[in-house]
Amino acid sequence: MSKVWVLGAGQLGAMLRHAAMPLGVDVEPVDIEQPFAVEMSPNDVVTAEREQWPETGATVQLANHPHFLNREVFPRLADRFTQKQLLDELQIATAPWQLVGQDTQAATLYERLGDTVLLKRRTGGYDGRGQFWLKQAEGTKVPEGWHNEAIAEKKIPFDEEVSLVGARDAEGNLYFYPLALNLHVNGILMASVAPLARLEALQSEAEQMLGKLLDSLDYVGVMAMECFRVGDHLMVNELAPRVHNSGHWTQAGASISQFEYHVRAVAGLPMAPAIVKGQSVMINLIGVEKQDAWLSVPSAELYWYGKEVRVGRKVGHINLTNSDLPALQQSLQALQPMFPVPYPQVFEWVENALN
Ligand code: ATP
Ligand code: MG
Ligand code: MG
Repeated sequence: MSKVWVLGAGQLGAMLRHAAMPLGVDVEPVDIEQPFAVEMSPNDVVTAEREQWPETGATVQLANHPHFLNREVFPRLADRFTQKQLLDELQIATAPWQLVGQDTQAATLYERLGDTVLLKRRTGGYDGRGQFWLKQAEGTKVPEGWHNEAIAEKKIPFDEEVSLVGARDAEGNLYFYPLALNLHVNGILMASVAPLARLEALQSEAEQMLGKLLDSLDYVGVMAMECFRVGDHLMVNELAPRVHNSGHWTQAGASISQFEYHVRAVAGLPMAPAIVKGQSVMINLIGVEKQDAWLSVPSAELYWYGKEVRVGRKVGHINLTNSDLPALQQSLQALQPMFPVPYPQVFEWVENALN
């Protein structure tokens, strides 16, 4: 049986491997800094858990394999400039933007995009890193070293943030989960809730947007689309050509998780519609020490990534799924006292989302 190699060996790679195990599919994440060559067969397939990587012995070997899927998609989406161009080309709504060129002055950006403008580094940013707010009232200038390296976006006064995770197989069949409602604090995802009846009205618009992207890229596997809800419509914030944090709830809340979907799609296995099992909540563990007491809470499913705990670092997540809403709410109430600041506001947000 052929192997699925994963470029990158972080938590996403580990969870792909974990999901593939019951299928009898051998998934092997490869650290980008791995010093020795891997023994690959021509029938193997290669996928990635990250959209960008430095050139190392390991990444060159994996990326040059003839069955590296979605090869051209990664550089295109990893650069916010070409990602935004793609969205514009496909006429998919996104925050108005422009490239911060060599000669682009803040004044031009204020004139075109409004008095508060968000600069985002073209590559490498995540968890809100690589972003810089320009404020006309404070006379902020484009920082040194950001010319040609960033795009500028209009500040969107969104109502809330949602995301759609979808999968496409090699025959072009599409599979989508229900939209997830996401809470970001300081640019970092803290919690997701799915499904939500009140988001159903946005589901078909979201599926059309992501479906168009997946088809136009002839993409195989799982992709995530982060959106802003502005009134009754969606605007794409950004795309991730991989399994995504806002889809982690599917590990507990769907008959086929996003990780299994990705493995099935890239390995050419049959796909099927994922059945949603109940109400799900995902709480990200950001800079908190592991507590065994979490395990005492009914329906709490812990994923601990085994990383060193640092402030602001994603070190795990907890999924909760229950078809009995009051029971789920009770579990959340039991968990809440086990968390430090700013988690009280996260649990409060979740509680409100469920009401
Ligand atoms: P991720 O960890 O999801 O990859 P990231 O660092 O790539 O995040 P974005 O998703 O682009 O960054 O932005 C992070 C957060 O900043 C968004 O979830 C949203 O809360 C806020 N944000 C981004 N763009 C805008 C915008 N144009 N207007 C207002 N808020 C924004
Ligand atoms: Mg991002
Ligand atoms: Mg994001």
